[in-house]
Amino acid sequence: MRDRLRLAIPNKGRLLESTLALLKDAGLVFEAHDRSLVSRVENHPLDILFVRTNDVVEFVADGVAEVGITGGDILAESGVPLPRLRDLGYGRCRLTAAVPTDAPYDTIADLNGVRLATSHPNVTRAFFADQGIAVDVITLSGAVEVAPRLGLADAIVDLVSTGSTLQVNGLRAIGDILASEAILVTNEASLAQRPGELDAIVTMFGSVIAARDCKYLMMNAPATKLGELEDLLPGLESPSVIPLAHEGMIAIHSVVGADEVWGLLPKLKTAGASGILVLPIEKILP
Ligand code: AMP
Repeated sequence: MRDRLRLAIPNKGRLLESTLALLKDAGLVFEAHDRSLVSRVENHPLDILFVRTNDVVEFVADGVAEVGITGGDILAESGVPLPRLRDLGYGRCRLTAAVPTDAPYDTIADLNGVRLATSHPNVTRAFFADQGIAVDVITLSGAVEVAPRLGLADAIVDLVSTGSTLQVNGLRAIGDILASEAILVTNEASLAQRPGELDAIVTMFGSVIAARDCKYLMMNAPATKLGELEDLLPGLESPSVIPLAHEGMIAIHSVVGADEVWGLLPKLKTAGASGILVLPIEKILP
């Protein structure tokens, strides 16, 4: 057995930048060389393999890497039953059925009998078979969105995040087939033989992902306002309350959802808080 775990990650494409950010935010120190396949993590027993996003599943399934990061859609399309360790919260997209704007189809059920172009033929076939809708699936490796304009297909099934590519190509979404995001996967052998090491990786990434959704709030207030302020602040369990040198004053510290901060600040001020600080959190281990 290798003494260092190997993590296979995308070497280019849409998931590269966010994957490198996750690894760096987790505190892993390594050099991401442009052309090298393997990078040694200096401060953790881990080697990083840079491979094509589509090949990550193969590397992990074959045991060349014990863990890998790829898209949920790619794992589903591969049909390989790799255990998922966790969702990673980026690379979010949907595999969506779309038709030309003026086409006479409004729902997925309307697609009975059409020619459908996609780069995800396995997921697409399985989905339509499951729904009892007969479609003729045409497999393309890229530029799926131009297939209807070229007369190659009546509809497409493609990955969409904002929908702007569909719009630019005169297409309209009519229904989702799969929701996807970046995922951390492993293989059965590693799960059985190296659970502690996998757990360490999951905790490392999980703590970063949890922290991204939260902010640390610090504020001062008169002690008499504690009840009112506490009602506004959930915290991880309950807010920390610290007496200040100035008699009758307290400091309150709390963790809040990043999305809630702007709504919360005016309410805290009205309830008597002052000197409010909003700080980023590096990691959270609940
Ligand atoms: P790549 O082919 O290396 O650029 O990676 C494509 C992967 O990025 C897809 O399989 C998805 O998992 C993910 N992804 C996230 N958003 C999108 C999007 N809008 N279009 C295509 N792929 C996306």
